[in-house]
Amino acid sequence: MDFAFDARTEELRGKLLAFMDEHVYPAEKIAEEQRAELASPWDTPAIVEELKAEARKQGLWNLFLPGSEYGAGLTNLQYAPLAEITGRSPHLAPTALNCAAPDTGNMEVLTQFGSDEQKKQWLEPLLAGEIRSAFAMTEPEVASSDATNIRTRIDRDGDEYVINGRKWYISGAMNPDCKILIVMGKTDPDGEDIRRQQSMILVPSDTPGVQIRRAMQVYGYEDHSHGGHAEVVFDDVRVPAENLIGEEGGGFAIAQARLGPGRIHHCMRLIGMAERAIELMCRRAVSRTAFGKPIAQQGVVQNWIADARVSVEQLRLLVLKTAWLMDTVGNRGAHTEIQAIKIATPRTVVDILDKAVQAHGAGGVSQDFPLAELWASARTLKLADGPDEVHQRSLARRELKKYI
Ligand SMILES: Cc1cc2nc3c(=O)[nH]c(=O)nc-3n(C[C@H](O)[C@H](O)[C@H](O)COP(=O)(O)OP(=O)(O)OC[C@H]3O[C@@H](n4cnc5c(N)ncnc54)[C@H](O)[C@@H]3O)c2cc1C
Repeated sequence: MDFAFDARTEELRGKLLAFMDEHVYPAEKIAEEQRAELASPWDTPAIVEELKAEARKQGLWNLFLPGSEYGAGLTNLQYAPLAEITGRSPHLAPTALNCAAPDTGNMEVLTQFGSDEQKKQWLEPLLAGEIRSAFAMTEPEVASSDATNIRTRIDRDGDEYVINGRKWYISGAMNPDCKILIVMGKTDPDGEDIRRQQSMILVPSDTPGVQIRRAMQVYGYEDHSHGGHAEVVFDDVRVPAENLIGEEGGGFAIAQARLGPGRIHHCMRLIGMAERAIELMCRRAVSRTAFGKPIAQQGVVQNWIADARVSVEQLRLLVLKTAWLMDTVGNRGAHTEIQAIKIATPRTVVDILDKAVQAHGAGGVSQDFPLAELWASARTLKLADGPDEVHQRSLARRELKKYI
């Protein structure tokens, strides 16, 4: 077993670490200042476009997409340590490299299931970073962790489909650059096979009847850098029949295919967030004195730091093993490990961030350090892309099956 990164990964890691130091970290404050001056808080600050141009010039672009036809041609194992680095600045770096959710998952869907025309119209501008996109599945009225509950209707009417429904927490949809939504709904709500009732369809955001109602908050944060999380109503929205992705009834399978890579990408970035939290915790602990000695000399703080380091090393190994399995036996073969990292990573990283907040005192919950926002962001990943309990249930069932 070889734990070293290969030459290509090492080369890209070196480039990316330098890009983060020279461009991304200094841009964090600038982005915040520029956002305060924007006409709409959902617009993209100019510095983000500058970062994108620089990343593209340096070949740090579309690294997430396996296969060399559209992406950088990296394996999951090669991409994992790079995504981790971007997680250290999760509100800027993934966007700068055109590797931000939900666009990544949407580009994967279009690459795998899109028609030539759909690829030309939507995949190409997404790959070029010219537009953004959203993925609309969750609905406020039903428990959406069970996709069979989805109520949005996609009804065929001649050469068109008509879409009616209400979605929420649709990431990216507040951003005016979000030009296309992939919408999940039911084309055959009474069909016998409950996993063949759903379809996915492309809906341009300027189609009449698409109403972006409001921005949903995350623990009070607007999450501007993610393009917000919108509540969206589809009111008799008509799109050409060619906008359907794949075949009628194929929506459930596409959703499953989309979520595998998305989940591991989130976990990789979360590990980067944890590394940043450890760094901040250590810097703070050595720089402040209480009751006659540096906070870093308190045994309890040392325990937090040691436990955080142990946890991050464990998580990283599991994430890398999962990436390797996805590359060698496919996403299906890596099902258990994908669920394992999706359960273990947010839970552990939330705890590490919480300890880093504690080590900072009041500063930890303030706007002067990134920890509070990182905590809120990490916490949502115990819900988004499938709540922990759903993964635990499914993983446990597979484990129990061996004994029945
Ligand atoms: C910041 C953020 C961004 C998001 N972005 C998007 C997006 O871009 N597009 C999109 O479509 N959705 C998005 N979501 C929605 C997210 O995917 C859903 O919240 C998630 O799938 C859960 O669905 P729900 O909220 O309807 O919870 P419900 O389905 O109502 O579940 C509530 C709780 O019930 C419990 N539960 C459910 N099923 C089981 C089970 N089988 N066993 C045990 N317990 C169970 C769990 O504790 C679960 O948390 C986002 C959410 C957040 C917070």
